[in-house]
Amino acid sequence: MTQREQYLYNASIWTHHHPYIDKPRPAVTSPFSGYEVFPGWQILIMITSECNTRCRHCYLPYEGSFDPDELQNMIAQFQKDGYSVYLNGSEPLLNPEYLPAFQLADQKIVMTNGLVLVQRPEYIREIREAGIGTIGVSYHFDIQTYFSRVSLDVAKRALNIVKDAGIHARVMTTITKPYVDMIPKYCDWCIENGFEEIRFTNFIAQGRAQELDSDLILDLEDRKHYYELITALRAKYSIDELCITSCGSFGDCGSPNMSCMALNDFVILTPDYKVYPCFFQTQPGMECGIYHEGHIYTKTGFKFPRHDCTSLHLFNE
Ligand code: SF4
Repeated sequence: MTQREQYLYNASIWTHHHPYIDKPRPAVTSPFSGYEVFPGWQILIMITSECNTRCRHCYLPYEGSFDPDELQNMIAQFQKDGYSVYLNGSEPLLNPEYLPAFQLADQKIVMTNGLVLVQRPEYIREIREAGIGTIGVSYHFDIQTYFSRVSLDVAKRALNIVKDAGIHARVMTTITKPYVDMIPKYCDWCIENGFEEIRFTNFIAQGRAQELDSDLILDLEDRKHYYELITALRAKYSIDELCITSCGSFGDCGSPNMSCMALNDFVILTPDYKVYPCFFQTQPGMECGIYHEGHIYTKTGFKFPRHDCTSLHLFNE
């Protein structure tokens, strides 16, 4: 691993994606008073709310789906404006007509609950041909059956289909209060089963997850403990043995690398053409910008704090 790769790995402990070099912004002026052309570098497009499992802890409150052709036109326009585009679900693999959009966006990663891969294992070839090199599969260990209709057995089969196709498999795990101490065991399980990456996300009581038991929510002490655990585990395992990354949704609890990307780097566009700061905040009333004729405008000078998670404080406190 080069020094730069090591740096990016260290930085990634608390961010959604690696830091990115700034690109020039579109040469358009905002037609809306109090709004500027979005000054960040990435547009995250939630392509569909369609899902084959509708998990109990799903935090995505938006509804609707983009037409696949319209989606490609939009990606091309954003790229022309200098933005990087990232596509996400609910369950983006449900409709294969979205695969060309991943290719156009030059996106090498996709997230799934895994069910579609187990139901149609031959689909993995199409996904690989679309240039996907990493597939993240939700695997929530002790809380899987409470959250999801996809059993651990099915999710593991999906991970193995990914691995056997020569695609990098990422285990994606939500952490709840009762299971923070199980994190070392979850990492060991990945190593024992030949999965080289695990990513942890905090349980956020948003969307359908608002109906679940509030005892699942990590408090500040739990989050500090979480940070100590994954710091120790990253020291124990080299990045080549097990790459351990963390969503920023654990907030400010010790990491000097905490870096919230919402509004600072990216905005979210939903199928109803609404603009939001973070995927946990894709609900009416939380808009932070306007989509207009292929461009995105955000409230002038409006930023989120870099070193904390607004979604965590909005929904878990
Ligand atoms: S608000 Fe929280 S979850 Fe959203 S981008 Fe920032 S750190 Fe991540």
